[in-house]
Amino acid sequence: MLWLALGPFHAMENQVLVIRIKIPNSGAVDWTVHSGPQLLFRDVLDVIGQVLPEATTTAFEYEDEDGDRITVRSDEEMKAMLSYYYSTVMEQQVNGQLIEPLQIFPRACKPPGERNIHGLKVNTRAGPSQHDSPVVSDSRPSNSLKKSSAELRKILANGQMNEQDIRYRDTLGHGNGGTVYKAYHVPSGKILAVKVILLDITLELQKQIMSELEILYKCDSSYIIGFYGAFFVENRISICTEFMDGGSLDVYRKIPEHVLGRIAIAVVKGLTYLWSLKILHRDVKPSNMLVNTRGQVKLCDFGVSTQLVNSIAKTYVGTNAYMAPERISGEQYGIHSDVWSLGISFMELALGRFPYPQPLQLLQCIVDEDSPVLPVGEFSEPFVHFITQCMRKQPKERPAPEDLMGHPFIMQFNDGNATVVSMWVCRALEERRSQQGPP
Ligand code: ATP
Ligand code: MG
Repeated sequence: MLWLALGPFHAMENQVLVIRIKIPNSGAVDWTVHSGPQLLFRDVLDVIGQVLPEATTTAFEYEDEDGDRITVRSDEEMKAMLSYYYSTVMEQQVNGQLIEPLQIFPRACKPPGERNIHGLKVNTRAGPSQHDSPVVSDSRPSNSLKKSSAELRKILANGQMNEQDIRYRDTLGHGNGGTVYKAYHVPSGKILAVKVILLDITLELQKQIMSELEILYKCDSSYIIGFYGAFFVENRISICTEFMDGGSLDVYRKIPEHVLGRIAIAVVKGLTYLWSLKILHRDVKPSNMLVNTRGQVKLCDFGVSTQLVNSIAKTYVGTNAYMAPERISGEQYGIHSDVWSLGISFMELALGRFPYPQPLQLLQCIVDEDSPVLPVGEFSEPFVHFITQCMRKQPKERPAPEDLMGHPFIMQFNDGNATVVSMWVCRALEERRSQQGPP
């Protein structure tokens, strides 16, 4: 079948899409669209304008599997929504359920101060002629979509991942340990990121790694990458996780402070969550911080399996420049060492370059020299203070988890606003795409 090779988005291309526009305090209007994947953001706004002529709608929202509202303000975010919706349709098909319409919630115009901070313009053209007219329907509340997602997670968590069900697509990147692929999981219709690591180890060690990875099934935080399962085939392990369409932070250019603050709060929450489970991350760095077009930020590649870390270390070449001084000196590793790596990572993301002179031939200079400091004039005082505290040479002087969360730099961004990161990721992806030219 064609869709197995091309993925859910293409598979749905010829299908009719029903968008259920929810009207505040009353029913809903069903709109049948015949060219779903080509649908533009402004087309949706136009139809909302017909349904709700009194209101000036500049954006709308949809709900993810956890019931969280995600805002859509651009074509890029539309694509993310449609791709999410089509994957839920796949799930419903796989589970033999009725296909739910795509529910959207129009959002009225915000006061001018808050609106359009990034200068995005909404092009309000005449009504979309290529689409069918909206039809009023009764809107029965339904949560079967959420249920099926939860069921799927359970199926996936039961260790039913295997090589036969996975179609590897693009290579997302190479690391020291292995290669990460974007892949399609046939039974669930989900897009995954699969990390494949070559490991020449005994069956006994393979079993130990698998049991050490078990704890990942229990990790349940929106700031930690979702884990779907792992399996060994011959001398390689495949670790299947949630795919993040914005990739990792190391490939982004200098990140503005107001965006970085929102990323920092997610990273601090993710680390605090891991620490609460007595897990040290041990590899905090920009390439292990992932983002998506929904504005989510999640941590990956934390060291839950000692055996896996040890086995990779045997073939590991190169240096980990994000390591805390005490770790370089071979002293005890603790939460404070993760905090150092957090500090140096955010300093790099803010400056757009690694803070120590490159190439860093000797990690010893991290031990011997004073820590670098962010230039005060360029960054806010709380941000400079935050980084300086995280990068104190003495581990005990660095902030404890509760001090990180309570730090003024972090506190000011604790507003649950995913829009800033979402817009910034969408912009950066669009820029990257336009630089690459047509495929
Ligand atoms: P190292 O091996 O030293 O930790 P690394 O983190 O860059 O380096 P990998 O963990 O192998 O190496 O990841 C390679 C790249 O794959 C990452 O830089 C990231 O861009 C991409 N990647 C990893 N996981 C995901 C994911 N879940 N979704 C999307 N992209 C991912
Ligand atoms: Mg990594």
